[in-house]
Amino acid sequence: MGAPTTPATTGTPSRPTRGVPPADRALTRPRRRLLAAAAALVALAAVGAGSLLDLRTPAPKPADAPAGEFSAGRAYEDVQVIAARTHVAGSPANDQVRAHIEQQLRGLGLETEVQDTVAPEAGQLSGAAGGATMARVRNVVARLPGTASTGRIFLVAHYDSVQTGPGGNDDAAGTSAILEVARALTTGPRPRNDIVFVLTDAEEACLCGASAFAASHPLAADGGVVLNLEARGSTGPVIMFETSTNNAKLVDVFGRAAPHPVGTSFAVEIYRALPNDTDFTAFLDQKFVGLNSAYIDGGAIYHTPLDTPAAMDRGSLQQHGDNALGVAREFGAVDLTDLRSGHDATYFPVPGGLVRYPGWLTLPLALLAVAAVVALGWLTRRQGRAGTGRLAAGFGLALVPIVAAPVAAQLLWLAITTIRPGYAELLDPYRPVWYRLAVLALAAAILFTWYALTRRRIGPAALAIGGLAWLALLGVLLAVAVPGGAYLTTLPALAGALGGLVALRTRQTGPWPVVAVTAAAAVGVLILLPTVVLLFPALGMGMGGVAALVAVLLGLTALPVVDLLHPQAGGQRGLLALRARRLGVLPAGAAAVAALVLAGVGLAVDRFDAAHPAPTHLMYAMDAGTGQARWLSHESDPQPWTDGYVDGMADVGDDFPGLGDGELRAGPAQTANLPAPKLDVLGDTTAGGERTLRLRLTPQRAARLATLHVDTSTATVLRAEVAGRSVPVEPREGKWGFGLVFHAPPAEGIEVTLTVRPTAAQVALRAMDASDGLEALPGFQARPPAVGVVGSHSSEMLAVARTYPI
Ligand SMILES: [Zn+2]
Repeated sequence: MGAPTTPATTGTPSRPTRGVPPADRALTRPRRRLLAAAAALVALAAVGAGSLLDLRTPAPKPADAPAGEFSAGRAYEDVQVIAARTHVAGSPANDQVRAHIEQQLRGLGLETEVQDTVAPEAGQLSGAAGGATMARVRNVVARLPGTASTGRIFLVAHYDSVQTGPGGNDDAAGTSAILEVARALTTGPRPRNDIVFVLTDAEEACLCGASAFAASHPLAADGGVVLNLEARGSTGPVIMFETSTNNAKLVDVFGRAAPHPVGTSFAVEIYRALPNDTDFTAFLDQKFVGLNSAYIDGGAIYHTPLDTPAAMDRGSLQQHGDNALGVAREFGAVDLTDLRSGHDATYFPVPGGLVRYPGWLTLPLALLAVAAVVALGWLTRRQGRAGTGRLAAGFGLALVPIVAAPVAAQLLWLAITTIRPGYAELLDPYRPVWYRLAVLALAAAILFTWYALTRRRIGPAALAIGGLAWLALLGVLLAVAVPGGAYLTTLPALAGALGGLVALRTRQTGPWPVVAVTAAAAVGVLILLPTVVLLFPALGMGMGGVAALVAVLLGLTALPVVDLLHPQAGGQRGLLALRARRLGVLPAGAAAVAALVLAGVGLAVDRFDAAHPAPTHLMYAMDAGTGQARWLSHESDPQPWTDGYVDGMADVGDDFPGLGDGELRAGPAQTANLPAPKLDVLGDTTAGGERTLRLRLTPQRAARLATLHVDTSTATVLRAEVAGRSVPVEPREGKWGFGLVFHAPPAEGIEVTLTVRPTAAQVALRAMDASDGLEALPGFQARPPAVGVVGSHSSEMLAVARTYPI
């Protein structure tokens, strides 16, 4: 028992190293050391609390707030009208929403019009599975003319909802915020620049409204600045999560003009890794610059029937509007001719504002952090606090918690979803806070255990430097691969190394070493704590490991402070050492117990009930020619309710190419008395081996979408024109060589002209349409109260198809 007090050193120390270095002498007395630890931890907790308070949403302003201000109370009145019921693109309910928006904007005295057109999907994104995707869209566009305009600002939100819910947040929040911003802007002095309000249609279907506006609306011809407002949840801070490239000047405006600027250059990188798209994507393809903002916490209700006005956190609505109004006013005043700068900015929120610096500083800073950590290692070795062997061991061992914490967090979630399989279909649990805390406790347990096991043998200095070294190296990796995220590890590593250098150079007894390491750890807390808090809702519990990783990095930056809780390294013998080890194990055990308890509380509190139903996915698909019908589900491990409809996997791609899916769970269903869409031949000519078919595809019921596919064994499609627009003919794999998905089809049908090279006497065309709602189908049993609907674009879809040989 009793570890060597003097670290083993290699080489000749430049000064005697016997005993405790003078800087630590004051801290060898346990009481003083404990006092210092308490003071340092209180300081860090205060910094952490400050940065978390900064992420809180503002208090919603009442409906009688001053006219020039944004009032969530006023905006919420529009939310209630817009999200009174489900209003998917093309539906009568959506017509009513559009009429309300038009009326509100005209009431403000704005030049208002409806852009009514047919448009393809922006960049042919999500719908590509079913084929070329387009929609009939009706955007509401209003203009507030500037006094001496240098360009245009576009405030954009989509007014359509998904088919499965009223879209109280997504995107009645954005739409209503824009109406209220428009009202506020018309009360004060006119802005210098034109401000255009664009409420788009068919975002949920295919981003087709935004695509139509960006590509063909006269007001969009010269481009401009787009501010897009979205919601992917019901609460939490509004995060400016996406920008156009070379964003430095835009981010600067956002930082100085948004009253509550929450945004990070790291989010842009995360967002690109997620399978989401918003209207903003349609603008990025064109000559626009801009910023995209959304609140994202409370993701359990996203795209579900629970996304109602009542589910909205009006603080989030207030923040959306405050920021949109502030930023619109600022862009409305500045010269818009030169907003593209040559570089991207690194930016992140701190209490009181948005830190920002040029992206070109990223790599030099990352290299500087590495150099500072190397210098710290060198000085530590020179002062005899750790030899090369220990420094190397500290470096190697610091990787253990960095790897173990995310792995353990993922395993914890695997265990929880095994106990509660319904979580697999949710973006995030309804009440995720217990699970988030469990992940943090687990990360802490791993870090503390690792520290208790390694501290005596390796020494606190070598372990702390090892941790900083990984942060610094990650910073270089990020600077090269994901520059917007490099600040996350570079700045804490740089601060930690500088803090360590100051602590080592401060020879006199006194508080300075403690102050230095505490200040350094505070930088880590300021940068990494908000990141952890924002990562949980951004990625969902299914990727809680990422938050665990950042939490461990935060813990590593705070090691020198945590170490103050332990008795002076090597400063004790016998019983004291035993006590020290027990003290070291205590927090580890407490954190492990906390992780288990918190996970248990989560499971107990977040049960599925009528207000928090277990999500289920069901579709119905029928062939009107054969009368064969099937229930279909996306659930990989079906819920008991879904299990009543589907059993094994089946490939439905050949029968229902318009679903855009291959393998689904399927089960037999009763035939419903539903007509397939009609396919009329308006013209049929053959010339030079090419046959041209002029067709009209007409749904015979209220359909959300209609599709048309050509059997590749009967003809090869050479050219295609839909509603007078030529659509790309890209060869598709499998039975169906050409596919078209048309959202919000007009009642009179869609005219399609196909020029084909026939390979059989008749061309086989598969027509399908889809409506929503399964309630009226034979054999459908209403869901019990605790069973809900998955938020997806195919939930509750009812598809009818038929093959037409022509
Ligand atoms: Zn949506």
